[in-house]
Amino acid sequence: MAVSAVEAQGVTKVFGSGAGEVRALDEVDVAIRQNEFFTLLGPSGCGKTTLLRLIAGFEQPTSGEILLEGQPIAGTPPFRRPVNTVFQSYALFPHMSVAQNVGFGMEMLGKDRRTIAETVERTLDLVKLGGLAGRKPAQLSGGQQQRVALARALANRPKVLLLDEPLSALDLKLRKEMQIELKRLQGETGITFVFVTHDQEEALTMSDRIAVMSAGRILQVGSPTEIYEKPTRRFVADFIGETNFLAAEVVAGEAGSLRVRLPGGRELSVLDAFEHKPGQTVTLAVRPERAELAEGGAEAQLAGRVENLVYFGTDTTYHVGLEAGGGFVVRLQNREGARRRHEVGASVGIRLPAEAVQVLRD
Ligand code: ATP
Repeated sequence: MAVSAVEAQGVTKVFGSGAGEVRALDEVDVAIRQNEFFTLLGPSGCGKTTLLRLIAGFEQPTSGEILLEGQPIAGTPPFRRPVNTVFQSYALFPHMSVAQNVGFGMEMLGKDRRTIAETVERTLDLVKLGGLAGRKPAQLSGGQQQRVALARALANRPKVLLLDEPLSALDLKLRKEMQIELKRLQGETGITFVFVTHDQEEALTMSDRIAVMSAGRILQVGSPTEIYEKPTRRFVADFIGETNFLAAEVVAGEAGSLRVRLPGGRELSVLDAFEHKPGQTVTLAVRPERAELAEGGAEAQLAGRVENLVYFGTDTTYHVGLEAGGGFVVRLQNREGARRRHEVGASVGIRLPAEAVQVLRD
């Protein structure tokens, strides 16, 4: 197996001491593959930026180790690491032209003029700023400034590019454009991108793999499909997309399969990756679009009444009050010609196909 581009092994970072101590990262293990678009996703304060700063070398771990291409890098200062960072604020030099901004790093390394000029030109073409080399940052739009910052970070071909919420200052339309652009740049350059965001949609659309973080820990790493379809933790299922949670009692279980009793008493067979035992209570997660509504109750696992429905054009969301207590959301596609199938007040059954039900670890 190829060596990882970046690896964190048991990395803990503590800021401050005593009562003011903050554990920004808590025993983080993660391996980021070469050439992948890897996203750190989580709410504000979960430690995403701290992990980037450790990889860049702006901070040192309190314990644990960071490896770049298999080599520990504790003693290597930031400017000697084959790593560049793009920040949310573009931090361009206002008095320098676009070309000077992009060539600045290479000039500091003492590269010759011709190499610098050629690299600047190639890199500006790569970010589609070919004609703007002579302008000053103040003469550029926000999106163009962000491209200059990207070009500057890509110019000396780092092995790893760290991107700390680089799109959050852009308006929605530009942001969508730059999402596609970043994905293209990653593919064309083959550089490993480590991208930080708290925006789940951005993470799902751009990433090869996502690490979902909470309170200094990585809770799950997987492809966007795995993270969305097979969340293993309640936090992950809740943070990404919409999810129904049900508490169920295990009545029988062996070899990865469980028989569970749902609220209201019906039973269901589901797959389980966590070796739960009979008598235990487990949490089930079901995406609204994976459940089905039935008019009668015969084949349904849950029974309730439609309390509210919201028509969205492509689909309709039904909010169902369960007979056993609590609510459940079902989203059905509005197929051509189909009319609203269930009115407010209607008694409905909710069918849960076994493959739509995810048994959570905790
Ligand atoms: P955001 O999305 O808001 O940038 P984040 O997930 O990037 O959040 P971090 O910036 O890594 O989170 O911060 C993690 C925790 O560490 C927070 O509680 C933060 O207040 C704390 N922290 C970060 N840097 C320092 C520092 N230099 N001194 C003290 N505490 C810090």
